[in-house]
Amino acid sequence: MAAGGKTLGFACICGQLRGELRDMSPAAYTHILCHCADCRSAYTHLGLADPEKVNILQTTQDRVHITQGGENLRVFRHTPRGALRWYATCCGTPLFHTPLKQRLVHVGMNADRLDQPDDAGRIMAEAFIPGPGGKQTHKGMVRMVSRMVSRMAAKNLSGEWRGTPFFGDDGAPTREPKLLTREERAAALMAVRK
Ligand SMILES: [Zn+2]
Ligand SMILES: [Zn+2]
Repeated sequence: MAAGGKTLGFACICGQLRGELRDMSPAAYTHILCHCADCRSAYTHLGLADPEKVNILQTTQDRVHITQGGENLRVFRHTPRGALRWYATCCGTPLFHTPLKQRLVHVGMNADRLDQPDDAGRIMAEAFIPGPGGKQTHKGMVRMVSRMVSRMAAKNLSGEWRGTPFFGDDGAPTREPKLLTREERAAALMAVRK
């Protein structure tokens, strides 16, 4: 089957973990910004500064290929039902977040870690934008969700949800997710500016 799109390289901050997003046709990904405390506290938990908004390339897990340093991949979650937050343990770079279930196929990648960040293209949606009085708003969410659902449906039909860096054939995550303690979660949230 012909690959329909470009290949985008990525790496952790120190460069030990490297990989590629393959078959990145225009429908294969959506570039968004997320302002939510969960995304931001994934950074602060790893000892990085609060990014205030997180630059995310949404795609499907089968497109992610780790080509070097895969032994550095680790995963945690903030809460028992929270997304899996995948990172490079060599240097503490947040790299991906996935749902807990393999068949959902969705992955959000840290778009700042692309070799060419401009390849993410224009921002199509923005989530949890802080507003006056603590009120949060969203932009472009209908389009974002409909693109995500189309990708999920296509990959479930084609069976391409198997054999990704994130889940084994048994459907379990390839690394044991570490559940943050209440103290760790509180500390990560404390470092997120309100
Ligand atoms: Zn690294
Ligand atoms: Zn978020």
